Amino acid sequence: MNCPYCGYQDSKVIDSRSVNDSIRRRRQCLSCSSRFTTYERLQPVSLFVIKKDKRREEFSRNKLLVGIRKACEKRPLPTGAVDKLADDIEAELFQLGKAEIPSAVIGEMVMERLKRLDYIAYIRFASVYREFTDITALKQEVDTLVSNEAKKSHPTSQLQLLPDEKLEAMAKGRQRSQQ
Ligand SMILES: [Zn+2]
Repeated sequence: MNCPYCGYQDSKVIDSRSVNDSIRRRRQCLSCSSRFTTYERLQPVSLFVIKKDKRREEFSRNKLLVGIRKACEKRPLPTGAVDKLADDIEAELFQLGKAEIPSAVIGEMVMERLKRLDYIAYIRFASVYREFTDITALKQEVDTLVSNEAKKSHPTSQLQLLPDEKLEAMAKGRQRSQQ
């Protein structure tokens, strides 16, 4: 693994720990002393996805990631959330210990997780994946989400403090200008 700063080919490992199913290694370049991180991941035995038209295709984490990323584009998600989602699904798929998985199973796994993560991303993914044939089917799905959301209790959040503070500041500003 060449140093990303100077390209030198040798480094020493200064820290090593297990992260999910991979090994994270903190390295230091033996030439320029820069530090960088590498991840070592086991190359799993191959897994095939059976598509809707019965074609078999080797499972690609990257393809999965691209699909999820597209659905999550410009959504306010925490850094790494999309990668973690792909990692979790990949890990779960290989844990099933099967040589072939129908693409529908993977699609459902993605949707189940996106639903918990972000409704908009979920609807985007589902509208591509489920191929909502008409607006009614899409509306039904959105209605379900909306009623689920309404059922959740809404504890007074800290976010609401902000507009109040703003109002207060505005009020103070007005008082000051009136003096
Ligand atoms: Zn270096």
